[in-house]
Amino acid sequence: MRTRQPATEQYNPLAVFIEGLSTLFYGMLVTWRNFWRPKVTVRYPYQRKPMPPRYRGLFYLKWNEEKQRLNCVGCTLCAQACPTDVISMVKLGKGTNAGVSEFTMDLGRCLFCNLCVEACPFDAIYMGPAYELASERRDAALFRIADLAQGGEEAVRTNIETVQRLMAEEEKARPAAGGHAG
Ligand code: SF4
Ligand code: SF4
Repeated sequence: MRTRQPATEQYNPLAVFIEGLSTLFYGMLVTWRNFWRPKVTVRYPYQRKPMPPRYRGLFYLKWNEEKQRLNCVGCTLCAQACPTDVISMVKLGKGTNAGVSEFTMDLGRCLFCNLCVEACPFDAIYMGPAYELASERRDAALFRIADLAQGGEEAVRTNIETVQRLMAEEEKARPAAGGHAG
């Protein structure tokens, strides 16, 4: 804080001028030093920095290459953990081989709190590095299963086919197991 000058001190315009000039050179010295330092800014959107591994961006549903399906079994635990009712889904089949035919997230309500990811016991839902989610359209915040699934539309089609095949195999095996028991 500036202290009040004693009333007896004489005003010296030359001293004030020199002090003002010195602050100008000091400011230019700071600029000169920072001019040669490595840049911390990027020319967005022409340049983009990679996001840190734990960044909470757009969600994705994990594709399981070995099983040829999404890991999601439609258990709704993520939806139950969500405090703002972002997630809804349509379950496909039942039992251990169940899946989902639809999985919708309304990110307009999302807090990006990660609770849904933590609640999932099937390694099925994650938050990825994509962050450009702003839009002028309200419905752009609505992400359907094809927008979320790794592999998009084709992955969703294969996922449904795989789950339906597994359900059919389960159904076929059921009477045979009953026959043995009887
Ligand atoms: S991040 Fe939080 S608010 Fe967003 S869908 Fe998951 S649980 Fe809901
Ligand atoms: S994402 Fe996980 S918690 Fe949510 S329905 Fe699928 S398997 Fe269950």
